[in-house]
Amino acid sequence: MPLNVPPGVLKEMQEVGRDLYRLALVTSHGGNLSVRAGHDMWITGTGTMLGHLEARHISLVHAGGSHEGPPPSSDTVLHATVYALSGAQAVVHAHPRHAIALSFDAGVFVPGDFEGQLHLDEVPVIEQGPRQVEQVAHSLAASRAVLLRGHGAYARGATLWEALHWITALEESAHIAWLRGHHGPR
Ligand SMILES: [Zn+2]
Repeated sequence: MPLNVPPGVLKEMQEVGRDLYRLALVTSHGGNLSVRAGHDMWITGTGTMLGHLEARHISLVHAGGSHEGPPPSSDTVLHATVYALSGAQAVVHAHPRHAIALSFDAGVFVPGDFEGQLHLDEVPVIEQGPRQVEQVAHSLAASRAVLLRGHGAYARGATLWEALHWITALEESAHIAWLRGHHGPR
């Protein structure tokens, strides 16, 4: 039985998930989304297709870590840590390809274009490893978006739409940086 996901939460997850997939910011089965619900959160199930979300793909994770519905995303602890450390109401994880490409050789990504400077300022790049969860969550308390080196981006917002805005702004800035030839270490 699918959970009784609030219609507004389901609709936002479906629309933002579809946009992420259609904008090629995730593969067919990549990425994840969550929305805070008091001390709980709604989060996409592990291995679900963000472009084709239904209520049966959404899990409810409680503050203690137990869940209802399908097995929640493998990123659940990260999302929970972001909510614990910040006032975020929603978190998006995606795989924006130009941003990932730039993340391999940079400690921070500084957008050069107007929109990126306006919305993102500096985007920290976190090293993969045993401390990545706390480092990503800690960085997201101060920054709207962060990059996990060679993997992807996390963004937080008051809504999933806002987090989508930061993911798309990041990828646009990274794509522009790539076109300008800024591929190397900085
Ligand atoms: Zn990922």
